[in-house]
Amino acid sequence: MTEVSEQLGLFSTEDHFPLPDPSRIREVEQLALKAVKAQGLKVKTVKWKKNRLVMASVGKNGVLNIHQIYQRAAESDLLDLATVMSGSAKPKDMERFQKYIERNMPKEIVNGKSRLVINPARGLFHNLEDTFARVFPLLDNPIDPLPKLGWSPARAGRYGITWGTHREMPEGPLILVNAILDAPDIPNFVVEHILWHEICHQVAPPEQGSGNKRIIHNRVFKELERRYPRLEIAERWEKENVGRLIRRHRGLED
Ligand SMILES: [Zn+2]
Repeated sequence: MTEVSEQLGLFSTEDHFPLPDPSRIREVEQLALKAVKAQGLKVKTVKWKKNRLVMASVGKNGVLNIHQIYQRAAESDLLDLATVMSGSAKPKDMERFQKYIERNMPKEIVNGKSRLVINPARGLFHNLEDTFARVFPLLDNPIDPLPKLGWSPARAGRYGITWGTHREMPEGPLILVNAILDAPDIPNFVVEHILWHEICHQVAPPEQGSGNKRIIHNRVFKELERRYPRLEIAERWEKENVGRLIRRHRGLED
């Protein structure tokens, strides 16, 4: 196990923080302005919008309104967007534009009264597919079926945070990580731990206890979870930072 962990860099202290750095969004804004200006549109500043069907529009005073799914865009995606805005998009441009939206738009699953919002695994700062690839070798056997991964919207309760969830959906297992953790100051080992914890739920299902009680974090589960080499630091970090993250989420602190 140690060897595998070393190979994976799970013990290294250098990769504690995710890329890109916090200036990434500012960079994307500059690239977006450049791409849109090149199409002859007059824009000066960017305003990020959510919950809109229109991906981009030019507002008053040279404001370029862009859907926030473009915060994770590459320059080529922004060029496609600008071409579509200018009305000069060819079918190929249109196809790439639509593909980007398809890949990055949050998906909604409505199940009775509950509504599940799933954001793509590739977050702004942490890519859950990469995180999964790092913890995956801790398993003895590959899990089948592979869980679908995504970010749930950032949410915090008054006294605690649900870091992640594992669900059995009709289409297969689904692991969601709270997007409150998709931030530049969240160490990789925290996201790794939460994802690993949820994978353990899939591998070690609840046991039947006395009465009708189901033991969710049972002995088999805990043994499996302990394979994650930074379990203790991750748990300590979560305990020490949960209050700060709740306050920040509620806008009580920056
Ligand atoms: Zn759990």
